[in-house]
Amino acid sequence: MIAEETKTLKNIEPKKTPMPEQPPQVRRFNFKEVSLGYTPELAMREARRCLQCKKPLCVTGCPVGVPIPRFINEIREGRFSEAIDLIKEANLLPAVCGRVCPQENQCEKQCTLAKKFEAVGIGRLERFAADQAFSNGGPRVPAIAEKTGKKAAVIGSGPSGLACAYELACQGHEVVIHEALHEAGGVLVYGIPEFRLPKSIVSAEIEVLKKMGVTVMLNSVAGKLFTIDEVMEHYDACFIGSGAGLPKFMGIDGEHLNGVYSANEFLTRLNLMRAYQFPEFDTPVRRGDRVAVFGGGNVAMDAARTALRIGAADVVLIYRRSLPELPARKEEVLHAQEESVRFELCTNPVRILGDGAEQIRSVQCVRMDLCELDESGRRSPKPIEGSDFTIPVDAAIVALGTGANPIIPKSAKNIRVDKRMYIIADEDTGRTSIEGVYAGGDIVTGSATVISAMGGGRKAAKAMHEYLMQSVPAVPA
Ligand code: FAD
Ligand code: SF4
Repeated sequence: MIAEETKTLKNIEPKKTPMPEQPPQVRRFNFKEVSLGYTPELAMREARRCLQCKKPLCVTGCPVGVPIPRFINEIREGRFSEAIDLIKEANLLPAVCGRVCPQENQCEKQCTLAKKFEAVGIGRLERFAADQAFSNGGPRVPAIAEKTGKKAAVIGSGPSGLACAYELACQGHEVVIHEALHEAGGVLVYGIPEFRLPKSIVSAEIEVLKKMGVTVMLNSVAGKLFTIDEVMEHYDACFIGSGAGLPKFMGIDGEHLNGVYSANEFLTRLNLMRAYQFPEFDTPVRRGDRVAVFGGGNVAMDAARTALRIGAADVVLIYRRSLPELPARKEEVLHAQEESVRFELCTNPVRILGDGAEQIRSVQCVRMDLCELDESGRRSPKPIEGSDFTIPVDAAIVALGTGANPIIPKSAKNIRVDKRMYIIADEDTGRTSIEGVYAGGDIVTGSATVISAMGGGRKAAKAMHEYLMQSVPAVPA
């Protein structure tokens, strides 16, 4: 039953129920999660803000179509396990998405309430429901259809690969994930830091897949150890979800110096290789006192906040446009500012200077003027002549985006790719130019989001299921 009082705007709290957090002066010295999540009371309070719209616009903003008003209603009524069951119908990784999805640009942007007040905290409620399931014995293993006798390979264990594997396993297919790294999870484990997304959450979700019978083969690099053609000799279908993890550099002088990292390398050393748990893990990483980070996206924020946590006294984020143009989530920008990351905006690095012994010493920058709108709809930055200045640093992290990993496209001759080496796949089905081979996630779309990668994996799984059930005789064991 939907309570009458929630159907009117008059008695709605205008602001989201705040979520408890570690204070900035404490959290900037540790890797524990920043946001602590709602208690049942806070969650039910926030759930009461939902209008339970007849035409819920929030759902149109969700790339995987989570039944948002229905799960919120369950929370409001205190039926938390029913809430998570509803979410799981559409989203395999609610504990992950509740934490890292850019809800402000998706479901919450569309929320009716947002026209007048702050949107309902849909992400916070999703996270709450998922965390409740964790505290009650972990995520449940879903029902699985009768075995089909068909075998599918999934290349890559990021959100797209996990979502695809989950859907295929639910349909009764045998699924083997081949993951190049020594831990499964893709960016969720090697990129996004522990203080935003604890690794235990990702591994608990992967455990569910294993309980469903999915095999995860680690250190298994497609394109190096075997080709896609060879995969198709052993499997009836294949999904490629290898992501866009190739670091990009700026091509400026001094990028080769010791102490200059790509954000990928820096975050991988810290997260996947656990450098933050020194001395338990002895992965080397430069713990600079003064660190510069180039870029303004989520990756740059993660790198800057990580550098603080491993001991930097001064972290400066250098971005060529102004604050409103920062592509990172607002919440992450605010968290970085609260933790004392300095922002040098409308500024561009032009040269990295060394000490004569190949060690980084400073960054030469130039101030930028924001002019007319460019093709991205943002004001294009132009250097201001004579505005050069130098920032002394011990380390620099380049976080200016990534490209497609070319290993698979190079080794699969018949796969069609665009000029940037992204795989060309049908938007609705993920079908590629090779029969039985599908693709999705960042390797198709370019760097995007966790939820869009999962959407790509899910769509492909649906098409793969149809393909497997219609046309393919099973590959002999
Ligand atoms: P990935 O997650 O990149 O996974 C690909 C997997 O394939 C990896 O495990 C890789 O090792 C494996 N692989 C690659 N090549 C091979 C091969 N040849 N053989 C076998 N395995 C292979 N998105 C958000 O929504 N919110 C955020 O807050 C957010 N923050 C981010 C922070 C960082 C630091 C980064 C880097 C990204 C962030 N993103 C965020 C983006 C998001 O994580 C990605 O869009 C998403 O992970 C893409 O999923 P995917 O499955 O396509 O690829
Ligand atoms: Fe609730 Fe907002 Fe969705 Fe309406 S649009 S059902 S208020 S979350």
